[in-house]
Amino acid sequence: MAAHSSATKVTRRNIEVMAAALPVDDRQDFDDAGRGLVGRAEERQVRTDDGRVVWDLDAYDFLRDTVARDTANPSLWRQGQLLVEDGLFEVVPGIYQVRGYDLSIMSIIEGESGVIVIDPLVTKETARAAFSLYTAHRGERPVRAMIYTHSHIDHFGGVKGIITEEQVAAGDLQVIAPQGFMHHAIAENVFAGTAMARRAGYMFGAALERGPTGQIGTGLGQTTSTGETTLIPPTVDITHTGQTLTIDGVEIAFQLTPGTEAPAEMNFYFPQHRALCTAENTSHTLHNILTIRGAVVRDAHAWAHYLTETLDLWEAELEVVFASHHWPTWGRERAVEFLAMQRDMYLYLHDQTLRLINQGYTGAEIAEMIEVPPTLEQQWHTHGYYGSVSHNVKAIYQRYMGWYDANPANLWPHPPEILAVRYVDAMGGRDAALAVARRAWDEGDYRWCAEVGKHLVFADDADTEARSVLADALEQLGFGAENGTWRNAYLAGATELRMGNFGTPATAASADLLGALTVAQVFDSIAIRIDGPRAWDEHLRIAWRITDEDTTYLTELRNGAFNHRVVTATPESVSAFTLTRRTLIGLVTGTVDVSAALRDGTVGLNGDPAILDRLVALLAPVDPDFNIVTP
Ligand SMILES: [Zn+2]
Repeated sequence: MAAHSSATKVTRRNIEVMAAALPVDDRQDFDDAGRGLVGRAEERQVRTDDGRVVWDLDAYDFLRDTVARDTANPSLWRQGQLLVEDGLFEVVPGIYQVRGYDLSIMSIIEGESGVIVIDPLVTKETARAAFSLYTAHRGERPVRAMIYTHSHIDHFGGVKGIITEEQVAAGDLQVIAPQGFMHHAIAENVFAGTAMARRAGYMFGAALERGPTGQIGTGLGQTTSTGETTLIPPTVDITHTGQTLTIDGVEIAFQLTPGTEAPAEMNFYFPQHRALCTAENTSHTLHNILTIRGAVVRDAHAWAHYLTETLDLWEAELEVVFASHHWPTWGRERAVEFLAMQRDMYLYLHDQTLRLINQGYTGAEIAEMIEVPPTLEQQWHTHGYYGSVSHNVKAIYQRYMGWYDANPANLWPHPPEILAVRYVDAMGGRDAALAVARRAWDEGDYRWCAEVGKHLVFADDADTEARSVLADALEQLGFGAENGTWRNAYLAGATELRMGNFGTPATAASADLLGALTVAQVFDSIAIRIDGPRAWDEHLRIAWRITDEDTTYLTELRNGAFNHRVVTATPESVSAFTLTRRTLIGLVTGTVDVSAALRDGTVGLNGDPAILDRLVALLAPVDPDFNIVTP
């Protein structure tokens, strides 16, 4: 069957039932998303210096002024319509936002002589374009400070589109971030980066066509830009709640919120404007307790707790709340209610999941049982466009209970391919199993159709009929999904079943991110690439004198495990390399040639030059193109 099927009668009916319960008369978000518009860009594409388009402001024009087709959930369609409202907006006099230029948005606070920029988007090209839209309307003003609200790349990656390392080094401006920012900004990509990037291709739908049968957004923003990600390390850490700064005449009071939406995150308040920035701790969606690209599970309880503290700190005076995704909420009453509703949602999911866990239910069961209170359901911003009640409940279960549901039948099942062969056999063989899948399709039970289809494809991935049935089922699930990341994942799976593996569409870590690795992180990243079985019989000890840190590390490979520690002196008879942290990173990433570096003295060596080759020979490649919907 060809791609881009239409919605079935069942999907259309499911969508109609769902749509009937939506608060369609509440049009406030459209007023808010358009409020304060100063101007839009005439140039609609953002390009790299050599002309490649990294962002297209008109890519989602099909959403504008239309009703959802039956191949899309109208609630998600509406969210996309709100998110494509691009331009420079005045939040209150002195506070501006550029929205529609990336997954995230940028805020700009005007001071006495210059500006403070909050969260410079994902890549330097979109950040530059967004900031130039600001200056086109408000004039050239020097940047006095850059604030990163948290450690996710869509909140710092575009920094070099606006400021330079030289400006920061010269002390012309401060770069402000929550404590722990650098560690977490880099750490997330060290251990599981390759797999997360491949899975992000499913979650964001980067390889999908934009259009009513394809990618229509991700709920948080439409998608991510594809330019260059950059990083300039912070110069000022926010270490505690109650800390204040005055920059260029602008007073800022901070609330540290570690372990919420990100491990290092903060909210902050501008008393002169009565304006609160909530980073990504509140947004116009139910956010992720666990993102489906994969991550360490977040703490819904801490998240809710910090929002209560936010209310405690500023509910008596704030007049507007804005964040680094979506549009602001104006008026104290509405803003406070918005914050409280967001808090209630995370707290309710957390507490009710635990109530049901303690009644013996498992994540998969609770996800189907849990009912969101009607008062929350009647708010648009509590709907699951990015996170979902279903996968957040499973995440909360995972945080407290882990992957195992305590049923010993699930303690040691066969792995997927072996299970698949056995299930297909148990259903009476391939033809009978295919008939089961087709019957499920005819009955509109696409979840069961996908389950059976999954086993058929894992039993024989060359079975084109099975692939087609599974692709069709995933596609219908995608068309019906209110959640943008679910839709993208379903449609990405259908696409790969029909057209083959699209690999990892997004680029890997940039030079700036790699360059920010600490020495310990470099050794950790080597350790996870050691091919264990091949290394069983090796015993290697190497000393690394890092000149710019005046520190010596001793690494040791034994039993296939590569450990590292700081030592006060190089032990006897251990080969020692002398180099800078940057050169070490270059050696590992392949931008520095070992023998050339040894010849020209960039790397010093006291000992056996062959020892490095022995280590490198044990490194295994990563696979950014691993299979997901096929074995
Ligand atoms: Zn973000």
